[in-house]
Amino acid sequence: MTELNRLTITEARDLLRKREISARELTRACLEQIKLVDPKLNAFITVCAREAHEQADAADARLAAGDAPALCGIPLAIKDIYATRGVRTTCASRILENFVPPYDATVIAKLRANGAVFVGKANMDEFAMGSSTENSAFGPTRNPHNVERVAGGSSGGSAAAVAADECLGSLGTDTGGSIREPASFCGVVGIKPTYSRVSRYGVIAYASSLDQVGPFAKTVRDAAIILRDLAGADPRDSTCSARPVPDYEAALTGDVKGLRVGVPKEFFVSGIEPEVEQAVRAALKSYEAMGARMVEISLPHTSYAVAAYYIVATAEASANLARYDGIRYGLRVDGDNNIELYNRTRARGFGAEVKRRIMLGSFVLSAGYYDAYYLKGQKVRTLIRRDFERAFESCDIIATPVAPTTAFALGEKVSDPLQMYLSDIFTISVNLAGLPGISVPCGFDPQGLPIGLQLIGPPFGEEAILRAGDAFERTGAVKRRAAIL
Ligand code: GLN
Repeated sequence: MTELNRLTITEARDLLRKREISARELTRACLEQIKLVDPKLNAFITVCAREAHEQADAADARLAAGDAPALCGIPLAIKDIYATRGVRTTCASRILENFVPPYDATVIAKLRANGAVFVGKANMDEFAMGSSTENSAFGPTRNPHNVERVAGGSSGGSAAAVAADECLGSLGTDTGGSIREPASFCGVVGIKPTYSRVSRYGVIAYASSLDQVGPFAKTVRDAAIILRDLAGADPRDSTCSARPVPDYEAALTGDVKGLRVGVPKEFFVSGIEPEVEQAVRAALKSYEAMGARMVEISLPHTSYAVAAYYIVATAEASANLARYDGIRYGLRVDGDNNIELYNRTRARGFGAEVKRRIMLGSFVLSAGYYDAYYLKGQKVRTLIRRDFERAFESCDIIATPVAPTTAFALGEKVSDPLQMYLSDIFTISVNLAGLPGISVPCGFDPQGLPIGLQLIGPPFGEEAILRAGDAFERTGAVKRRAAIL
């Protein structure tokens, strides 16, 4: 048998249920892989070996008793933005370096109840602000396909860990592309569900009207299995939808006949690497071959998305991050009075990008500038949402590239925030509109770096994009490549 850590969740689930493998040996294989490759990748901030073995033993007991939810005994990595009871949760920031939450995020509690095994807390950009995981206070994560390249961000550790077979699946969060872009850069599947589909309780807030929880996995089916366990109402998150959760795995019929695939003309313009465009266009061709129909659509306000996002997201971030004051939790650097204590704590605790966002956000919300920036940003957001509403009158899903480039070199964009912000040009509008979006591997560039196809659905259209993603995967056009480590 192949090394156990290389299995998909679907394969491992069957073998676990048949008792041909144990959760303990599966977990051990993942922890060994972490030991072997993580010194090169830095996908983890904290590895939870002892806890993982305990969870695996408990899972084996359940499996032996025939009580086996789909994720029972499956080793997962958790972005270090999720509160995990008793396990340090840093958000990749010095300000939370020693923070140990006394409670679990709702999705963590759900996965725990279903017997999942948490191998560790994954690296990320500090407070999820970034597109390359270079803004982590714990050093950058490297791309498993080429360690001189970034893994993407902000959930770079979660994506890299799956790509390098350090775990079978993982959790990330996506505020402007932070699941889809690293999934694309690392050659794995990542889905950002509809805003409100999954509870955000216990997920450290960045921009609350945009943040959403979602999984990474090696296949679309595996992502569907994880999402089914995450989604659903939560009395602790009033923004979370009570809509029943469909069986996402059952939606994977392989049938896309008659599916109308919208192709936005604004997404295939200058700035996109030719090999990225070629791979995405080839994927569109295979949808046509499977009986889907391409429809040209227009999303006319696309060019304003990045600007609107950086107003709305920073405004919300400046408010959300006000709580890190050195008093209640996290780092405290004493001063002669409270103001000095706040200043010293925040000056020492936050990294440069986080400070930049807090300043930008405070500026766009301040008296005299609110109307010119924040209010305008919100109006543009509405226009972007309406663009999608209109587009979905003539198509069922929308297909685009995930990012204009493949994984860039470490250090390449750190000194130019605007260039970094542009990595999310194709993903950000999806968050502004609250829609579901998935990244599915659709090829490799000549350097062997993965390329992602983005499929966007209407609100609560997760089944449609999962089905379409799975159908493409079944063509076998793209083979999963082992990481080069
Ligand atoms: N790169 C974007 C940002 O820095 C999106 C990050 C995210 O989705 N969390 O804000």
